[in-house]
Amino acid sequence: MAVQTEYKFFEAVEKSFDKAAKFTNWDPGILEQIKQCNSVYRMHFPVKIGDKIEVIKAYRVQHSQHKTPCKGGIRFSLSVNLDEVMALAALMTYKCAIVNVPFGGAKGGISIDPRKYSPYELEKITRRYTSELIKKNFIGPGIDVPAPDYGTGEREMAWILDTYLSMRPGEIDALGCVTGKPVTQGGVRGRREATGLGVFYGIREVCNMKDAMSKLGLDTGVERKTVVVQGMGNVGFHAAKFFKQGGARVIALAEYEGAIMNQKGLDVEEVFEHRKKTGSILNFKGATNLPKSSDALELECDILIPAALENVINGENAPRVKAKIIGEAANGPLTPEADEEFIKRGILVVPDMYLNAGGVTVSYFEWLKNLSHVRYGRMEKRFTENMNAHILGQMEELTGKTVNAKEREFIMHGAEEVDLVNSGLEETMIAATREIMDCWKGNAGIPDMRTAAYVVAINKVGTAYAELGIFP
Ligand code: GLU
Repeated sequence: MAVQTEYKFFEAVEKSFDKAAKFTNWDPGILEQIKQCNSVYRMHFPVKIGDKIEVIKAYRVQHSQHKTPCKGGIRFSLSVNLDEVMALAALMTYKCAIVNVPFGGAKGGISIDPRKYSPYELEKITRRYTSELIKKNFIGPGIDVPAPDYGTGEREMAWILDTYLSMRPGEIDALGCVTGKPVTQGGVRGRREATGLGVFYGIREVCNMKDAMSKLGLDTGVERKTVVVQGMGNVGFHAAKFFKQGGARVIALAEYEGAIMNQKGLDVEEVFEHRKKTGSILNFKGATNLPKSSDALELECDILIPAALENVINGENAPRVKAKIIGEAANGPLTPEADEEFIKRGILVVPDMYLNAGGVTVSYFEWLKNLSHVRYGRMEKRFTENMNAHILGQMEELTGKTVNAKEREFIMHGAEEVDLVNSGLEETMIAATREIMDCWKGNAGIPDMRTAAYVVAINKVGTAYAELGIFP
């Protein structure tokens, strides 16, 4: 009988890297330097929980400093371990390179089940973790900038910021020490939904490509395509919502307690409210329960979006997956074995390190906002509106015609912060999709989109290292 071996996530990332490196011309030394994790910080610290002292295990890994600061989320989960954090940090390097965000890759994690702690206890753990990072110079607007990830959100980022501010009084750019903050604490509008929206923009662009769709036997466009989303956290929920808004039919949603299905389509926001009220996704009106969450991954559909954790589609269940397109909203949801299976069957896998880059892209916008100390749109909104009103007035006068109230509002509108953030994100995702697809098309031997994405990333990071020069 085959022995069930532990999933080695970092090794899987290295495998994908090596597969792609063959299509580049970099010196083996440069490739080796790109691949390695530059700095690994593993810590243990005590926190008083109730009347007991708990020793908490946590990590921060900086994979690459070819551009600084390093950037990447912080995960709170019992499954956090060094291998996982290293793999996720490496993915951040490649992700930032693909979307031209000038950061190195990093990731952090605390090995706890956040549901087992009160908000007060979580705050203590988060603040202590932050002080450990400060002590070792592993955080700062020019050093390493954390963000939300699985199990963390705006609340945790606000605690990190407050701890940093109290230990670095007077540091003018301190707000840029963490992103994904609440808007009232220096966050940027649009960050919360950014990863999900980026997933939608990326897949929409792929669906608009005639040649890619005809290979799959699909029409172009997102409209009327059937979608299954696994994971109703921040990423999955927003991705599902934007697909529905874009005219797709979300036929199944999955969470760890189970999954629900309705071929006519699910109202994503109503499902979210239902889960909040009842504590479970199951028993939603009009939908069928699927008792095993993973059953949703095997449903017939056009687009499957795994938006939870790594290693959910592997050599075991990949042969039963029936989707035509798989959009990796999570980091590492497919193992290399699953990849091989999908290449064989002609299923299009849209890879994580570019598809879920919307989060870090908008984190970059947030960081820029923090460094510039001004809200996007503040300087030009009124000017644009006055100019638009003037142009419209002139046109109406010259033509003797007037536009209706709705059109007037649309034409006059000067960009708010969220408009600028979303349009920057849309442009970034479209440009990245095209760059990867062009690389794939231009290189006959590249077997899949993931390898093409790695080739693009390796070339960009390689160029940065080569231009920096290597110390003799
Ligand atoms: N945790 C997110 C990711 O995996 C966001 C990282 C960031 O904004 O720095 O991409």
